[in-house]
Amino acid sequence: MHNINLENLRTAFADIETIIDSHQVAKLSQDYHTFSPVLVPKLAGKVGDIVVRPANEQEVFKVAAICAKLRIPVTVRGAGTGNYGQCVPMHGGVILDMTKMQEILWVKPGVARAESGVKLAALDKKAREIGWEMRMAPSTYRTATIGGFIAGGSGGIGSIQYGLLGDRGNLLGLRVVTLEDEPRVIELRGDDVQKVNHAWGINGIITVVEIPLAPAYPWAEVIVSFDDFMTAAKFGQSLGNADGIMKKLIAIFASPIPQYFTALHQYISEGTHPAFLMVAEPSLELLPGLVQQYGGEITYQKPAQEAGKGINLAEFTWNHTTLHARTVDTSITYLQSIFPADKALELVEELYHHFGDEVMMHLEFIRVNGRVIPAALQLVRYTTEERLNEIIHYHEAKGVFIANPHTYIIEDGGRKVIDPEQLKFKEMVDPYGLMNPGKSKVLEFKSHN
Ligand SMILES: Cc1cc2nc3c(=O)[nH]c(=O)nc-3n(C[C@H](O)[C@H](O)[C@H](O)COP(=O)(O)OP(=O)(O)OC[C@H]3O[C@@H](n4cnc5c(N)ncnc54)[C@H](O)[C@@H]3O)c2cc1C
Repeated sequence: MHNINLENLRTAFADIETIIDSHQVAKLSQDYHTFSPVLVPKLAGKVGDIVVRPANEQEVFKVAAICAKLRIPVTVRGAGTGNYGQCVPMHGGVILDMTKMQEILWVKPGVARAESGVKLAALDKKAREIGWEMRMAPSTYRTATIGGFIAGGSGGIGSIQYGLLGDRGNLLGLRVVTLEDEPRVIELRGDDVQKVNHAWGINGIITVVEIPLAPAYPWAEVIVSFDDFMTAAKFGQSLGNADGIMKKLIAIFASPIPQYFTALHQYISEGTHPAFLMVAEPSLELLPGLVQQYGGEITYQKPAQEAGKGINLAEFTWNHTTLHARTVDTSITYLQSIFPADKALELVEELYHHFGDEVMMHLEFIRVNGRVIPAALQLVRYTTEERLNEIIHYHEAKGVFIANPHTYIIEDGGRKVIDPEQLKFKEMVDPYGLMNPGKSKVLEFKSHN
């Protein structure tokens, strides 16, 4: 596809920052696909040729024009915290590191606009200065970029209130630079943003993002312990359904998962099943009543005033749970799933008992289409790829939606098919198929026919 002369390329990029040190380039070709024992061998040795670090949109234009002209593959990268090899280059080329584009353009009541390399925590902090905050953030909010979250993420802390990133209204606008012979900038608004939302960096280089904000609350962090897993899960559902209680996080862990949370051992007795919560302080008064109703016990509470100090409960939830577990036992991997709506949580109960210790339940309650349901990032004691697939198929046969984190192919993961609107947009913005090539079945097929 390309034959790169690095020195010539560096000269062409002129005063734009580049990195060619092979150790650093290899590092910046990685993400967190290492959580998957299936992906590790498949992505081994996949590295870019050069890292380019534009400081502004003008520099992005320049890089896009050069890469289009020379037909060089471009893999856009934020902080590289994605989980499926999303920003691992399959065919070498340029790694376009967006982390220098860190300007927060403006923050107004209810909405913010920022360059794509802005870290989520920085944007949240800025919004809080005027009484607003991000609607949702992944548990990697301290390092992840807003561009990477939009292009690669799905939801997280806050999704119990505002749903998932792909839900209409959670992304207001985007600017993308195309990879045409003469690159253009396209501003997408309204439903058109879906052409680029969660497109894994194959549909243009996002330079600017506009997102809606939520009113900021003082969030208290709470651990509630239960003797029985299903009681903990039902408590989570009930708290989720309590529309008058403001919350940002409801995570439920089956024993023995808490044993992997070394820093929290003193708050969670062995064999118990905790709920990790973020509840708005004005709602906190209502919590003990609900806890009592389910026979739980509040074992830890941190006031909002101390947010950011000491233990940060959010950094034990979502896929950080897997991170902590793998720190203790590297043979552990995970699933990503969404259970169908069912207030009695019968399917959760059935699968909890069916797999026992092999698939440890970790629920994250979210709001989807106006209903509160459990998503799950179950921890799996990995044995073989065949067994992992068997586990996945069993869940799917029972009606659980699995966004398979053990593939780098878009269609084999959450999406199953790429949205035809995204494909149409791709043909326009990336006519030579240079953006993150090798990640889609349908695009591979097209490029070979
Ligand atoms: C421990 C852990 C916990 C996690 N928890 C969550 C979670 O709670 N929720 C969640 O949704 N995800 C989660 N993730 C996945 C990931 O951290 C998030 O999706 C994060 O937002 C990705 O941001 P990033 O800047 O690291 O993106 P990267 O990993 O750098 O990129 C992700 C994708 O976006 C593309 N991309 C990046 N920037 C641009 C751009 N400017 N223009 C076009 N395409 C671009 C890349 O090509 C790639 O395909 C977790 C990962 C880990 C390791």
